[in-house]
Amino acid sequence: MMEVDIWQLPIPDWGLTCSECGYPLDGLPAHRCPECGVAVDMRERVRPWTRVRPPRFTGRELPIPEWGLACSECGRPLAGAPSWQCPGCHRVADVGSLRPPGEWFVLDAELCRGIPMSSVQALLAGEHVPHLPIGEKSLGEIYGGTTLAVTALRVASEFYFDVLALLQQTRRDIAIARMNTPDNDWRCPDCGEDSPAHFEVCWNCGAERI
Ligand SMILES: [Zn+2]
Ligand SMILES: [Zn+2]
Ligand SMILES: [Zn+2]
Repeated sequence: MMEVDIWQLPIPDWGLTCSECGYPLDGLPAHRCPECGVAVDMRERVRPWTRVRPPRFTGRELPIPEWGLACSECGRPLAGAPSWQCPGCHRVADVGSLRPPGEWFVLDAELCRGIPMSSVQALLAGEHVPHLPIGEKSLGEIYGGTTLAVTALRVASEFYFDVLALLQQTRRDIAIARMNTPDNDWRCPDCGEDSPAHFEVCWNCGAERI
């Protein structure tokens, strides 16, 4: 978890505006709009897609961090390499082409390999990585609630390498946890049901095992 005090003053340059009149809140010395006088509730103004911190990684860090990247030529993992030249086949990877173009990229189940989307969403929220859920169908339409069945996340491209690092760290944590409890039932993070050790998906809801 990364701690960010959303109530800090002056209000940081997060591009927020007053809920009533749209007045920009950046730099204000108090949680009250000087234009219309309404009280500013930061819990309601700061949204999952608000950028409240800069990314940790730019993609230029060396040696190459644990981003789960591999050489596109020979498949050798590149973590720890002192440069973008593959230590195996000496092919130089084009680091500039790794970060997705555009302001946002789609983080789908394939990129999240083995980590349920709901866990990834919670992870990004805890780390203040700007993101926006993409739902295929709204459960609200079916059950009258407001929950969206999240199938993917739109994530700020600037945070691409932060996301790679977080996913890789999570996979490592999962692998260690599994090694320590090899033959036990596992509990589904989505529905809370227990499945036998040899099941790779939840017997109840079909969520992938983590
Ligand atoms: Zn206002
Ligand atoms: Zn290589
Ligand atoms: Zn389940």
